Amino acid sequence: MAFDIFLSPPHMGGKELEYVQEAFRSNWIAPYGPSINQFEEAMADYIGVADALAVTSGTAAIHLIFRWLNIQEGDLVFCSDLTFIGSCDPVFYERAVPVFIDSEPDSWNMSPVALEKAFRWAKAEGRMPKAVIVVDLYGESADWDSLLPICRKYGVPVIEDAAEAVGSLYKGKRCGSFGDFAVQSYNGNKIMTTSGGGMVLSHDTVAIEKMRFWSTQAREPAIHYEHKEYGYNYRMSNICAAIGRGQLEFLEEKIRIRKKIHKAYVEGLKGLPAYIKEHAQKNYSNCWLNLLYIVDENIAPNDIVVKLQNAGIEARPAWKPMHMQPVFNQPRFFTHDEDHVVDEDVFAHAVCLPSGDGMTELQQQMVITELKNCF
Ligand SMILES: *Cc1c(COP(=O)(O)O)cnc(C)c1O
Repeated sequence: MAFDIFLSPPHMGGKELEYVQEAFRSNWIAPYGPSINQFEEAMADYIGVADALAVTSGTAAIHLIFRWLNIQEGDLVFCSDLTFIGSCDPVFYERAVPVFIDSEPDSWNMSPVALEKAFRWAKAEGRMPKAVIVVDLYGESADWDSLLPICRKYGVPVIEDAAEAVGSLYKGKRCGSFGDFAVQSYNGNKIMTTSGGGMVLSHDTVAIEKMRFWSTQAREPAIHYEHKEYGYNYRMSNICAAIGRGQLEFLEEKIRIRKKIHKAYVEGLKGLPAYIKEHAQKNYSNCWLNLLYIVDENIAPNDIVVKLQNAGIEARPAWKPMHMQPVFNQPRFFTHDEDHVVDEDVFAHAVCLPSGDGMTELQQQMVITELKNCF
């Protein structure tokens, strides 16, 4: 499907091509090379963690962390329920068992109340999870001051899925620095892209070094090919890293523009039986995607998506919660409230609007006009 206005298309700042040409000139067209190291160092510095490992996707990044945490068949993993499937796919790779945690109504991020319920259940069963995967949803940080103490109390490591929150802050600290391990994604529709890629971030340099080893087929230091462990072919290419370096230099500008788009939507859509989801005071969101929450019960997210589609505008319903996905076949799920499921409510009412930082003001106005026509 071709659209005139896409949800979140790539937008280059200018330096990317220069860095890619540098890679060509030096013939580092491989999953090795100087841009990879430079990109990793620059990202670790920017986020404020000790080390970073550039890989082929955010999903691969989560998989490497699973390996480090020794997640095996039958092990429980607690997961944010309102997320993209990439968050949870590694659960299948290791035949682990997901337990989904509902969101809290304000930020739509993991509910501390539901998380505590899940831990109490696990404790009673005598079966603690090996990890908790917490997503910073649509660029807005999870409530780390509530979630981290719960995970610490039960002694379970935290994987921060900051795939959507590159550049976002929570109380002045960067998303990607809160979990024991964190991941980012640079897929084509994320706020910054390398055409496809991801990063593992951590304060634990020993763990990152081991993941680096696994990500390049676990080759032992020998002249011949020697393998004592199995690995993966997950390392980022030097070409992609060159794009990443340029995108990172452009990131603050991208966030500035996305914040303006967010404001334009908040202002432009006032008075409709719907509103743009705002962010909590303590959160500085990168405004990756804007979500329109529809109050009018006669209008469904799909109605809006189809109407905008007919006008050449790409929109999408909010993530369909994981506990509703057939692939998981009735997984265990803990809710925030007894009689109301927050994630199902979001899925039933919210639409993601075009939010790319390459959008012109005219295009924003076109989306706003079309949206008004929908109501
Ligand atoms: C995009 C995304 C991923 C997966 O990243 P890929 O680079 O596409 O593998 C994981 N989690 C969340 C929340 C995402 O939005």
